[in-house]
Amino acid sequence: MPRIFVECHDCGKRLSQFTVNPTRVEFAQTNGESIRRTCKFCGKESTYHVDEFRSSPQRWLVFAVSTAMIFVTYILARFVFDFAMNRYVLSGILMLPLLTYFISKRIIRNNSETFNSHFVSKENPED
Ligand SMILES: [Zn+2]
Repeated sequence: MPRIFVECHDCGKRLSQFTVNPTRVEFAQTNGESIRRTCKFCGKESTYHVDEFRSSPQRWLVFAVSTAMIFVTYILARFVFDFAMNRYVLSGILMLPLLTYFISKRIIRNNSETFNSHFVSKENPED
């Protein structure tokens, strides 16, 4: 589920939202090519072309997932498998969150690249 944003035509601030559509083409099929948005910063309502929407990777999600994984790994090792806290277990506890970090980073970046890779039309209409 990519997080997408468009820059306000008036104040230039980013209006972000989540979409269930993995690509811009599907986003256009669901929402139409022209999408009305009210800016939450300056209050102006404008019509945005679907090609103006872009996706950026959600870095906080990568850190959230990795941090959660540290606790999950710790709980598994300590209470479920009842491992002694020796250095091997400790290095394992560090490896799992690191793996989670790199895998989730790649997935989230790919999601953004998939959304950004196709335009509905090449030209941006004047609003
Ligand atoms: Zn604005």
